[in-house]
Amino acid sequence: MPRERDQMWEYAEEDGSRARCKFCGATYAGGISLLKYHWAQIKIRDVAICSSVLEFVKNIAVASVREMERKGSKKKAKTSDYIMKSSSSSFPSGDSTQAGSSPHSTSSLKGQPTITSMVKKKEKEVVDLLIMKSIIMNNLPFNLLRSDEFKEELVAIANHGPGHVPPSSETAITKLLGTLKEQVEEYIEEVKMSWTKTGCTLMSNIWTDGKNCPHINLLVASPKGVIFLKSECCVGKVKDASYVANFISSGIEEVGPENVVQVVADNGSNYVAAVDLMRVHTKGRDLQRPAVTRFATYFLCLRSILKQEEGLRYMVPSPDWRNLNQAKSDEGREVT
Ligand SMILES: [Zn+2]
Repeated sequence: MPRERDQMWEYAEEDGSRARCKFCGATYAGGISLLKYHWAQIKIRDVAICSSVLEFVKNIAVASVREMERKGSKKKAKTSDYIMKSSSSSFPSGDSTQAGSSPHSTSSLKGQPTITSMVKKKEKEVVDLLIMKSIIMNNLPFNLLRSDEFKEELVAIANHGPGHVPPSSETAITKLLGTLKEQVEEYIEEVKMSWTKTGCTLMSNIWTDGKNCPHINLLVASPKGVIFLKSECCVGKVKDASYVANFISSGIEEVGPENVVQVVADNGSNYVAAVDLMRVHTKGRDLQRPAVTRFATYFLCLRSILKQEEGLRYMVPSPDWRNLNQAKSDEGREVT
């Protein structure tokens, strides 16, 4: 085991002397270096490219491979497993629970930190503290640190190199917002096109905002992604079955009745009563209505389980899982 674990081990696990990709299960000998090429989708020797890697992990891997190659550690890494494990990206964000290691640690064969690696570690701490400061001073949620977009942003800034100046707020609200809007519209068009091939699920709930105003929402989910279709403020309206049914029906018309496979709703009595009305519009297809649910969270939960299937398959045989008391219960065994 290396003294300082590479942050990219978060997406891999050890399998004897090999490292296993958590996305596709591919294994490679000699630490994590070859997996970085695998994730970065850069062809090297007989390493296959990973087709299941998440986009932001790919970006981190690309930055990490570049850093490895820039420091020339790649050449040395071929000769030593230890060096392979200790060479790492200098990507400044990463997992805050792991100390930043430095490519320069290749010169410390006994695993002792060099001055350069200590400086790098200090630099990482400075960057991490600045990230924390910006989160606290701007009242941003700590969950930001789990956001793929945030990680992607940091990788992009690191890749850009020194001298990156963030956009002014004027540029942000004029030019950049416009460009992003165009990108979102393009993406939505792409998702809509996919409905005719895969069908889609309508999801609806009534939600009350901070000012106590109720809104009825409609989202459309398909394998290509979940998009927000529309929302209506229902202040002063009777939110009974026919109101809900009319709202959902209008959504079905917009999406195209032939594309709607099912409607997922919460189990409020108005939604329950709206079911029969809806069948007219869903052409007899049944609505999925779990007996006890909080809106579409179960649906999203199941979807994320499917997305993480590979990783979960590896979790179940692990000692961590087997040692959990919950795993020994009947429910736990069923989950396994
Ligand atoms: Zn893979």
